[in-house]
Order: sequence, then C-alpha cells, then structure tokens
Amino acid sequence: MKTHSSLCFLLLALHLLIVLVSSSAKDFDFFYFVQQWPGSYCDTKRSCCYPVTGKPDADFGIHGLWPNYNDGSYPSNCDPDSPFDSRKIKDLMPQMKENWPTLACPRGDGLKFWAHEWDKHGTCSESVLDQHSYFETALNLQKKVNILTALLNAGIEPDGRFYSLTSIKNAIKLATGITPGIECNRDESGNTQLLEIYLCVDSSGQEIIECPVYPRSRCTSRVEFPSFEDLSAGDVTEM
Ligand code: AMP
Repeated sequence: MKTHSSLCFLLLALHLLIVLVSSSAKDFDFFYFVQQWPGSYCDTKRSCCYPVTGKPDADFGIHGLWPNYNDGSYPSNCDPDSPFDSRKIKDLMPQMKENWPTLACPRGDGLKFWAHEWDKHGTCSESVLDQHSYFETALNLQKKVNILTALLNAGIEPDGRFYSLTSIKNAIKLATGITPGIECNRDESGNTQLLEIYLCVDSSGQEIIECPVYPRSRCTSRVEFPSFEDLSAGDVTEM
C-alpha cells in the first residue's frame, strides 16, 4: 500500500514538473522584426490613408514583431483571453504614433493596426514578452538599426530609381552584420518596389541574429525605391 501511494506521489510530481516546464518554455524559435517603407505601401492601386496625427516621416516604420519557427511557419492568434489594451502601453503612445504609423484606410489613430499585430503575433510570444514589453521591444529594436541611414550611406535613396536587391542587402549587412530578408509590392504600373525589411531577432527579442529562414519574397533582382515626399494629395487618400 505504501509503495503504491509513493508511486502515485512520484507520478503526480513528474506530471507537475512537465506542466511547469512546458508552460514556461518559449513556443517559437525567433522573431522577424519587420519595417516598412511608407512610400511603397502608399504607392499602389489601393493607395493609403495617413494617420489622424498627420503624414508620417519619410522613414521606415514598424510593421511588426513576429514570432516564427525555424521551418518558416509561424504561430498566430495564440491567446484570445489576452486582447490588446491600449492602457497598458499609454507611456509608449508618442513613440508608437511616430514609429509605428498606421497607413490603412479609412484613416485612424493606429489602435486598430496595433491591436491586430498584438492579437495575431504578440499573443504568441507572451511566454517571453507581455503586452508592454512586446511593443517596447519592437520600438527599441528600431532604435538599434537605422535602415534608411544604412541605405543612404550606400547611395541608395528613395528617389524613384531602381536598385539591385543585392546592393540593398549588402548595405544593410554592412550596418547590422546580418543579411536581411526583403519583401516587395507593386506600384500602379506593375513595377516591383522595396516594401519591407525583415531582420531576425533571437527569441528574447534583444539580439539581431542571422535568419534561420527567409520569408518567400516577391522581389525581382532590381527594385524601385519610391519617394515618400512627392506624393500629392491626389496620390494619397486623406479622409
Ligand atoms: P500581418 O497580418 O501582421 O502579416 O499584417 C498584414 C496586415 O497588416 C494587412 O491587413 C495589412 O493591410 C496591414 N498593414 C500592413 N502595414 C500596415 C500599415 N502601415 N498600417 C495599417 N495596416 C497595415
């Protein structure tokens, strides 16, 4: 009888240990930190809408910080019980407005975009970053590397000209030490243009790392780098 109850106790302890270990373990391998060129987001058939706070700077803005697996797949919408709550990031609001601008139509204050990013991606890295740390981590990562400066230093300017994808990757590698992923979209005439830069970040959200896997890219070997200055009111829907 005594042996039986000791065995039961041991099994229970083992079960508890497994539950504890699995609940504290991270459930993804690394992050993509994705920054976006507003000139390309806006220069499409669909166009864009500036945030209620006004036209964003002509600089790369944050799209998101996305937990990913080494095989290229990713988790999404991991915790419906943890909805986006803007009160939790009240202190980050000025930075959010400046560095994570919404460009979707109809124009908004950004809350919808940030809620989407938290609900879809942020909830999947909650074992590492709570809501406040998630947004703060992304804002801090952006401060670490200035993509636009890296490109300008290599003579790659948002002037509507075409640049080789290799030269863009090399310029960012020179600044960060790692090769980025690049994603493109198409302007109204069908030209491929530089839309997003993917940097890989370790699962703590602190260190930029070589990418374990790159996103599938729609870029061609030469891509347009459109201006974000020359857009007239007619090009961009201001509602
Ligand atoms: P995700 O689901 O995180 O991969 O992001 C894709 C969604 O984000 C799409 O619905 C896009 O239209 C939207 N999106 C991307 N960039 C922006 C932006 N700057 N402002 C608002 N929505 C955006």
